[in-house]
Amino acid sequence: EIVDLTEMLEHVLNRFDMVIHSAEYESKNYQIRKDILQESVFVEVDPDRMIQVLDNIMNNAIKYSPDGGTITGKMEKRQDTVLISIRDEGMGIPKADLTKIFSRFYRVDRARSRAMGGSGLGLAISKEVVEQHGGRIWAESTEGRGTTFYLSLPYVPYEEEEWE
Ligand code: ATP
Ligand code: MG
Repeated sequence: EIVDLTEMLEHVLNRFDMVIHSAEYESKNYQIRKDILQESVFVEVDPDRMIQVLDNIMNNAIKYSPDGGTITGKMEKRQDTVLISIRDEGMGIPKADLTKIFSRFYRVDRARSRAMGGSGLGLAISKEVVEQHGGRIWAESTEGRGTTFYLSLPYVPYEEEEWE
């Protein structure tokens, strides 16, 4: 299915903006910043699966930022790909773990992660979905400062209407 990724990301960020302003989170002082494009960018994806990927990255950004902070969702166009980045100001991930976190059941700090709930499957599933769509997912991080997840996807260079 061909979908507008700009619109999809905007929806996800708006939904999380409501989450962080709900009773459960309002004491934590999270902020969501949107740095997205004004134009539509079309990608060929299974929308439910791609929303699941974005949801997991956003959920992680909140879950692993116990002191709150700004979560920035950004989207930019590159040569033939569109690049989404989601940056948080949370606990960060040690360099040695940056690729391992995409393995099934891998969690950086088992005891701490167990207390936070979840199974360690989110990113493994996300990687599978992104790669099924011809894309890539990776992370950069500074421990104690925060983490940025990147997601690049090939985009469809035009939509029918634009030929008019
Ligand atoms: P699940 O997503 O299945 O509920 P989970 O969040 O532990 O559980 P993943 O989403 O796969 O699993 O993440 C794997 C591990 O990577 C996490 O347990 C955590 O240690 C680390 N991690 C993921 N995102 C972040 C982040 N934004 N900041 C710091 N650590 C992170
Ligand atoms: Mg997760």
